[in-house]
Amino acid sequence: MNLTVIGTGYVGLVSGTCFAEMGNNVTCIDIDQKKIDGLKNGIIPIYEPGLEAIVKRNVAGKTLHFSTSLENHLENCDIAFIAVGTPMGEDGSADLQYVLQVARQIGAHMTTPLIIVDKSTVPVGTADKVHEAIANELDKRGESIPFTVVSNPEFLKEGDAISDFMKPDRVVIGSDNPDATKKMRALYAPFFRSSMDRLITMDVRSAEMTKYVANAMLATKISFMNEVANICELVGADVNKVRIGIGSDSRIGYSFIYPGSGYGGSCFPKDVKALKKTAMQHGYQPQLIEAVEDVNDRQKLVVANKIIAKYGEDLSGKVFAVWGLSFKPETDDMREAPSIYIINELVKRGATVKAYDPKAIEEAKHFYLKDTPNITYYSSKYEAISEANAMILLTEWKEFRSPDFHEIKKQLVEPVIFDGRNQYNDEILGEMGFEYYQIGKTRS
Ligand code: NAD
Repeated sequence: MNLTVIGTGYVGLVSGTCFAEMGNNVTCIDIDQKKIDGLKNGIIPIYEPGLEAIVKRNVAGKTLHFSTSLENHLENCDIAFIAVGTPMGEDGSADLQYVLQVARQIGAHMTTPLIIVDKSTVPVGTADKVHEAIANELDKRGESIPFTVVSNPEFLKEGDAISDFMKPDRVVIGSDNPDATKKMRALYAPFFRSSMDRLITMDVRSAEMTKYVANAMLATKISFMNEVANICELVGADVNKVRIGIGSDSRIGYSFIYPGSGYGGSCFPKDVKALKKTAMQHGYQPQLIEAVEDVNDRQKLVVANKIIAKYGEDLSGKVFAVWGLSFKPETDDMREAPSIYIINELVKRGATVKAYDPKAIEEAKHFYLKDTPNITYYSSKYEAISEANAMILLTEWKEFRSPDFHEIKKQLVEPVIFDGRNQYNDEILGEMGFEYYQIGKTRS
């Protein structure tokens, strides 16, 4: 099929590339000239394992193209995907300005019948708004070209995006048009070799809702476990043991019940907020969802509070080595990362921070911690801890999982570790003379 993907970010670039890999002819469009120029020259704007090789292979094979203009890319196009950002608006609802701008551009440029797919995460009712925006543009042109708007929310995880897209747990297609559903099924069929059971079709509104509910459910699991961790500390229980104890129940399961420094990233915070807003716009007070958010806001500062409890409110003269800046491993994405909140809290109290991350340093330097003073970046984890008072682990990158603790002890002023991801064995660290703080277990 001929596909046009509008918005070449994490979702647009990964989706477009994977569709091309399956034999489709794909053009990815973005208004960011620098991004498109780079992609044309094989420069991948994000870190996503495995992505670069597939992009290069499909560009070389002429199945993947890049452009800054939608003009001429809707002619003979079977399906146009909208994959632009839907950031949090000022009132907490999803900001649809980019989605609707793209809808108007589609209406202004389409020349042949078209299926338009909302791949961006958008609130219930957005497909109607997209439909209206396109229809208005066609009216202005005096054209009546048939089109339909489908919802196909994306469930890929950053850091694992290629594998999620190529071997999806499920694909949700929300459509009220049987021909469009048939075409979407055909597009996704190669991604389901053994059975199409995991291709789930439904009405548009339910599909739009599904994406928010999936993210809110995952965020709820995280906040629940973080709340449990805080209670464990108060009652002298070990959340790591409680986690294993409950996860073994097949009704509960082990995934997403790790305590930590709170959820971050480009999706959970804004999607939980947007779902809350949608409920409130319809006169419903979503108490559980509000609590999920409140617990997360508090959790982001749990590590900072442990540091303050040890060193006092005034941290001037103290140096902290931070391992991990991205909101999770295997990505350079720092949107809403707990590291931003924790580092700012420490620096505000006079501390100096020495930071290391395998992939996110550029993002931190130029965007997310650009205005934060007293922070220096290092190209190795051991360099960053040299002469620091304590090491703080904030992202569980693989290279942090089993570090050389003798080296850490040698480099630090005092052998103190604050672990915001519960990665280490407290007995072993205790025997080595470390003061080891984790989430959900008081220090023995
Ligand atoms: P992103 O910010 O990485 O990319 C969005 C891109 O859209 C940018 O490159 C921007 O320049 C481009 N853009 C904006 N306006 C445009 C226009 N008029 N024409 C062409 N391009 C335009 O965003 P993302 O992380 O890929 O997220 C996109 C959507 O997918 C969001 O709704 C998000 O919630 C959803 N989503 C994201 C993830 C994820 O893990 N990142 C997963 C599932 C769903």
